[in-house]
Amino acid sequence: MSEEANPFESLQEQIRDAAAYVDADEGELRRLSRPERLLETNLTIERDDGSLDTFKAYRSQFNGDRGPYKGGIRYHPGVDRDEVKALSGWMVYKTAVVDIPYGGGKGGIAVDPRTLSMAELERLTRSFAEELRPIVGEDMDIPAPDVNTGQREMNWIKDTYETLENTTAPGVITGKAIDSGGSEGRVEATGRSVMLTAREAFDYLGKSIEDATVAVQGYGNAGSVAARLLESELGTNVVAVSDSSGAVYNEAGIDAAGARGFKDETDAVSGYENAEEELTNEDLLTLDVDLLIPAALENAIDDDLAGDVQADVVVEAANGPLTPDADDVLTERGVHVFPDILANAGGVTVSYFEWVQNRQRFYWAEEKVNEELERHIVDAFDGLVAAYEERDLPNFRTAAYVVGLERVLKAYREGGTWP
Ligand code: GLU
Repeated sequence: MSEEANPFESLQEQIRDAAAYVDADEGELRRLSRPERLLETNLTIERDDGSLDTFKAYRSQFNGDRGPYKGGIRYHPGVDRDEVKALSGWMVYKTAVVDIPYGGGKGGIAVDPRTLSMAELERLTRSFAEELRPIVGEDMDIPAPDVNTGQREMNWIKDTYETLENTTAPGVITGKAIDSGGSEGRVEATGRSVMLTAREAFDYLGKSIEDATVAVQGYGNAGSVAARLLESELGTNVVAVSDSSGAVYNEAGIDAAGARGFKDETDAVSGYENAEEELTNEDLLTLDVDLLIPAALENAIDDDLAGDVQADVVVEAANGPLTPDADDVLTERGVHVFPDILANAGGVTVSYFEWVQNRQRFYWAEEKVNEELERHIVDAFDGLVAAYEERDLPNFRTAAYVVGLERVLKAYREGGTWP
């Protein structure tokens, strides 16, 4: 295995690669390669036994040229400055690729939430919300769920903010439960855009998606919903899925929804009765399938592993699952990679719809949400393919960054520099 890539350096490399095809000067690129603002704080909470514990937390506001900072909050022991900075930068280019009026931000707490009781988790979340209060707002910075956070945490953050501000402002955060101002279709949105990207990608490449074999690494919200929709809406054959407990494989199909139900009960996909074979995550990533979906964390595939990937198409559900070196290897080997900032952008796109609904206090049916989401993802896909072909770009990731970078630069130049 090669040394673990630093995600912030990966982001900077991705921006540099795209910049070679974009009319931008050094000063502009320097400005767009680092966060505008980074909050680093220590949150102290009382544990249930009365002792005190302190956790590091961050919020990075990377760029706001196109609108309020936007991006999730992650609870994971691996959260650190460079990860949060990278994730917030990826959000800038993601919101630009799907052309929604936001910048990019990201936050996180370095914690394994499984080691906390629900009451402790609530105290930790509310403590973070209190720290965030001065820098977030419906028109400033709008957090959302990410790894290990969901509706419950978003509802607590909204409630803390509204209580402290003595107002109602549901649009201060997205990914809320429906009764707290959430949107229909938000929970499924990330997985849905992964499914739509796979559909468009296979169509573009002239391959049939029906009965295509699929392997999904990571079985959280993004991976499990993508797998279920790929089966139910496109008729693919999901043969392998995994989580941190390991991978399960069945040549005849694993039953994506059944595997998720099993994981909900036992906290692991390993041991799922429908499996024919148990594999490691590494085995899953190198299976000879038509479509590979990395849906876990950054750096799942490095250059060593990329040499062994046998899939024809990779659609990224996770943020940053390939190192830049892995990207180079796959490009050279002719494996088509459809990048995170397009494929998983359904989450933030439906977050945008949620925020619009919150601001208007008028709520949409799920059908309308899914229709608008499809339009945004298909338009973004077409825009990226047009850039790839017309400008003879090396791969779809560079195409996505070229499209995103040009939109951000345009907004910045129109606004001008002040003072
Ligand atoms: N955390 C998700 C992402 O990485 C969603 C962000 C959002 O909805 O603002 O795109």
